[in-house]
Amino acid sequence: MPKFRRASRALHTCSVTLALVLAAPVALAKTPQASGRGGAVASISEQASQSAMAILNRGGNAIDAAVAAAATLGVTDPFSCGIGGGGFMVIYLADQKRVVTIDSREMAPAAFTPAVFLQDGMPMDFDRVVASGASVGVPGTVRGWHEALQRYGSMSFKQVLAPAIGVARQGFAVSPTFHRLTTENEGKFRQFAGASALYLHDGKALPVGALIRNPGLARAYGEIAARGQGAFYGGPMAQAIIEAVLRPATAQGVTVAGGAMTLADLANYEARIRQPVHSRYRGYELYGMAEPSSGGVAVAEALNILEGYDLKAMTRPQVEHLYLEASRLAFADRNAYLGDPEYVEAPLTGLLSKPYAAQRRGLIDARQAGVTGSAAGDPYPFQDDRSVVLRPMAAPAARAARQESAHTTHFTVADKAGNIVSYTFTIESWGGSGIVVPGYGFLLNNEMTDFDFSGPAPNVPEAGKRPRSSMAPTIAFKNGKPAFTIGSPGGATIITTVLQTIVNHVDLGMPMQQAIDAPRISERNGAASSVEPGFAESDQGRALALLGHRWEATPEEIGAANALVFNSDGTVTAVSESRRHGGGAALVQHAAH
Ligand code: GLU
Repeated sequence: MPKFRRASRALHTCSVTLALVLAAPVALAKTPQASGRGGAVASISEQASQSAMAILNRGGNAIDAAVAAAATLGVTDPFSCGIGGGGFMVIYLADQKRVVTIDSREMAPAAFTPAVFLQDGMPMDFDRVVASGASVGVPGTVRGWHEALQRYGSMSFKQVLAPAIGVARQGFAVSPTFHRLTTENEGKFRQFAGASALYLHDGKALPVGALIRNPGLARAYGEIAARGQGAFYGGPMAQAIIEAVLRPATAQGVTVAGGAMTLADLANYEARIRQPVHSRYRGYELYGMAEPSSGGVAVAEALNILEGYDLKAMTRPQVEHLYLEASRLAFADRNAYLGDPEYVEAPLTGLLSKPYAAQRRGLIDARQAGVTGSAAGDPYPFQDDRSVVLRPMAAPAARAARQESAHTTHFTVADKAGNIVSYTFTIESWGGSGIVVPGYGFLLNNEMTDFDFSGPAPNVPEAGKRPRSSMAPTIAFKNGKPAFTIGSPGGATIITTVLQTIVNHVDLGMPMQQAIDAPRISERNGAASSVEPGFAESDQGRALALLGHRWEATPEEIGAANALVFNSDGTVTAVSESRRHGGGAALVQHAAH
């Protein structure tokens, strides 16, 4: 078989050396659905699901297994997630019957100001900001893993990072999806010496089947395994991060802006343990992610709006029309009110109240799509404490719509004791800022571009603030017992994918695999809804168009969901994508025969 090996290049900025060979063809054992007993995992990466299973089989709990899977995703899906970014973890602790969440969202450096993305008063070019040190937020992932393991896990960093270190050292084969994502980001990666060395060959994406080893990332994990989270937030790795942000190592002749992060920003970073967002929908108790993610609140508000309809008695296009309209109204509210709760107090009680949802429902026309840019409602009269009557800040001017596709990753894992993790994490855009930390093999996020570039708005950039997210890891219960988990990547479409999958499963009665595989449509109060290829021409698409719905010109795959379903006979079914993102990997500890 053809083999090629690239001479290791001693880049002055990057100590990564890369042995590039074509991997022996790997028999893909990926299966999108598995049912059985004991622990279970569903992720988009076969290696990540196997890492989780290895930890469960060694007696680790769901939290240990989640960190093992996440670290492995950082190796095999480095453009979606990793220790250079942040995320949100929802955890169910079975023995305490308690849901907790960990917010490891990236934080703006102390030098940030509301004008950081303005030039002469005008928003700067989005793509130029993305590929620069200015877009990099203080990474939260390692601190989040630390809190998860310390508080709720049973194993050490050394134990749970071992499988990922193995994958980083031995390498993984470039898949068609990985190849496509690299190709789409060649322009960004070519600007940076580190990303070019790791993920390109002569400026082009590595071919399908090429083996990527990442000794730098193995080293980073090794240092965290040996010294804990302090190895990331202080010492040589922290210095390398700061240097990379301040003076990104670019290809010859390329200039990009540096950021203003300091060692103190890293040392001061803290993950937050937050109360989940709790809501009820048709007998289910839903627990989602609170601010600074808007995911939990927006999903809950849209479901509250939908609860007033007898969806089961309706045709599918009617249900989907109402789903799109509920989402439109929920997005209007999230844009007007939600942001980092340590900076902006949102009227959450009002937003989540059923009477408020009824008022919003009253705006929906069952026979006609609503207007583009529908106005936010006024949830303040629905707050418990009416003594404080604040008025909403003006909603920001909508920035140019961008394709959200499937950046980020979501996976879910449960153990035999009934503990559950639903975890979404990211480095924002595909490949984040494009900056690889020299010597440590991981990409830094561009999460700061999740702020609204200009205000007034709850989500303008501020020092120490966390940008608003859409991530929506969710755990649902029925009659006091776990019923299902759901989550997805996909920027703002995360909210609609989670919402649509819940509607498909709960209202349209689809088994979870069918609910996940169904064509996705996403309305975010913009000029048109996002759809997947083929939808606009389908009967469903045409029926919705007759009601006035409009579709974005470039259909794209939306999201990459993963779920667990806890069946009434005590078995668990792990469900991943059958096609999107190349298909996912669902595993159970003891398969049902
Ligand atoms: N930055 C996005 C968010 O937090 C996730 C990244 C993406 O999927 O685009 O909502």
